[in-house]
Amino acid sequence: MRKLCVLGCLAAALFAPRGLLAQEVTQLPTIKQEAVTEVEKLQMFTQQMVDEIFSFSELGFQEYESSRYVTGILEKNGFHVEHGVAGIPTAWVGTYGSGKPVIAFITDIDCIPRASQKPGVAYHDPIVEGAPGHGEGHNSGMAVNVTAALVLKKLMDEHHIGGTIKIVPGVAEELLGTKAFFVRAGVFKDVDIVLGAHVESEFSTSYGTGNGEWSGLVSVQYFFHGKAAHAAAAPWEGRSALDAVELMDTGWDFRREHLRPAQRSHRVIINGGDQPNVVPSEAAVWYYFRELDYPHIKDLYDLGNTMADSAAKMTGTTVDHKLVGSAWPPHLNKVVAETQQKNIEAVGMPVWSAADQTLAKALQKDIGAKVEGLKEKVEPLTEPVKKPTGGGSDDIGDISWNVPMVYLMYPANIPNLPGHSWANGVAMATPIAHKGSTAGAKVQAMTALDFFLQPQLVQQAWDYFRNVQTKDVHYEAFLSPDDKPAVEMNKEKMEKFAPQLKKYYYDPARYKTYLEQLGIQYPTVKTQP
Ligand SMILES: [Zn+2]
Repeated sequence: MRKLCVLGCLAAALFAPRGLLAQEVTQLPTIKQEAVTEVEKLQMFTQQMVDEIFSFSELGFQEYESSRYVTGILEKNGFHVEHGVAGIPTAWVGTYGSGKPVIAFITDIDCIPRASQKPGVAYHDPIVEGAPGHGEGHNSGMAVNVTAALVLKKLMDEHHIGGTIKIVPGVAEELLGTKAFFVRAGVFKDVDIVLGAHVESEFSTSYGTGNGEWSGLVSVQYFFHGKAAHAAAAPWEGRSALDAVELMDTGWDFRREHLRPAQRSHRVIINGGDQPNVVPSEAAVWYYFRELDYPHIKDLYDLGNTMADSAAKMTGTTVDHKLVGSAWPPHLNKVVAETQQKNIEAVGMPVWSAADQTLAKALQKDIGAKVEGLKEKVEPLTEPVKKPTGGGSDDIGDISWNVPMVYLMYPANIPNLPGHSWANGVAMATPIAHKGSTAGAKVQAMTALDFFLQPQLVQQAWDYFRNVQTKDVHYEAFLSPDDKPAVEMNKEKMEKFAPQLKKYYYDPARYKTYLEQLGIQYPTVKTQP
C-alpha cells in the first residue's frame, strides 16, 4: 500500500533529501483521478441527496428534517457530529480525521418562502400552493459537499493521508442569520482552508471581491410599542405604533437621496396592527441595510437606529430593535481560487441532454428571460473588478475574513432566472441539478486533495490572507455581545406547511428519482421552445 503520511512526514521531509516529499506529491494527480472516479460511482447517492433535501423544503432556522437527514448520513459513515452548534438547534459540525490541515466544506441548506414548485415543469406549478420551496437551489449543496467528503474519507484511509475534514451547514443563509455566530462561537478557529459551494448556472470561482456584485449588510427588525384605544371613540387616548413605522419609512425614503449610490436598503412591514378600529399598540418593520464595506454598513445601521428613535419621539411610542442577520462582503482567497480553477477546468461542464436544454429554454421563454439554454463552457478566472457595485449578500463573508476561503459556483441550475423565486426551483430536482452536483463534488474533492497533499499551498493561502487581504482591513463583527441567533424565525410558517409538505417527501426506497415519485414527465413544457 502506498503511504502518504503527508503532514506527518513533513517534518521528516524537511531534513530528508528533497526528493522524498516531491515523490509523494507526484502521486497527487493519480489520487485526484481516483477521486473523480469515486465521485462518479456515487452519482445515485448524490442524486438522491439532491432530491431528498429538495422535498423537505425547509426555511431558515427550521431545517430540522434536512439536518437530521444529512447528519444521519455522516454519522453512519464514521463522521463525528456535534449538534446544536453556536446555540442554533439546526446547526452542526461533522468531522473526520485528525491533525492538520483542517479543511472545512460549507454550503447552505435553507429555502425560500412561497417558492414551492414541481421540478422538471417549465411553468409555475407549485407542489403545495403558497409553501416554501428550493427557489434558490440550496438543496443541492449538501449533495456536493457530502459526496466529496465521503470520497475524501475513503482516499485518506486508503493512502494514509493526514488531516481533518469538517462539514458545516449554512443554516438560515437566506436570513444571513448564522455564520457570524459560527465565527463568534469559534467554529473556524482551527480551520486552515474553507471550501464553500453554491449552486449557479455556471462553473466558476473568484477571488478578492470577484465581479463586485457583493454587498455586506445588517438585517434588523424595529418593534414599536404604543397604546391601544378605540380608533373612533377615543383616538386621542391612543399612540399608534403603526404611525411610527410609517414615519420611519418615510424618513428613510427622504434620506435615501442623500446616501451613497452604493447603498441598497429595503424593508417589509412585519406587523401593521390588527384591525382599523383599534389604534395599533404594536407594529414592526424589518430593514436590510446594505453597503460595500464595514464602516459604511455600520453608518447605515446607526442611521436606521436614529430614524427609529426619531419616529418613536414623533409619535409618543417607544422602540427597540433586534439584529437578525449580518454579513461582511466576502473577500475570497486568490491562492485557493487559482488552485480550484484548474480543477474546474479539468472537470469541465456536465454533458447536457436534449431534454435538459428543452427544459431550460422553455422556462427561459415562459418567464420572459433571454432564451439561450444551459451553459456549455466553464468560466475563466478573472481579476476582481476595481470598483465594486454591490448587490446581494452572503454571510460566508464573515468566514472569508477569518480563514482563507473560496466559493465554488457549480453548474446545477438554469441561467437568466430572477433568483429567490419558484423559477429557480424548476431544475433543482432534475438531471440538471444532479449532473451539476456531481461536477461540483469532483472539484471539491480535488481541491481538498491539493491542500491535503501540498502543505506549502496552505502556507501560500495564509500569506495572501495575512499580507494582502487583511493588511489594512480588520474583521469586526456587527454582532454585539447581546445579539443572539434568531432561531425562532420561520417557525410558524414551517409549522403551517410541514404537514402538507410531508406527504411529498421523497422516498428513495420506492422511487429512483423524485421526478418518478411525483409522476412528472421530464421535461414538462407548455410548448416546444
Ligand atoms: Zn444562496
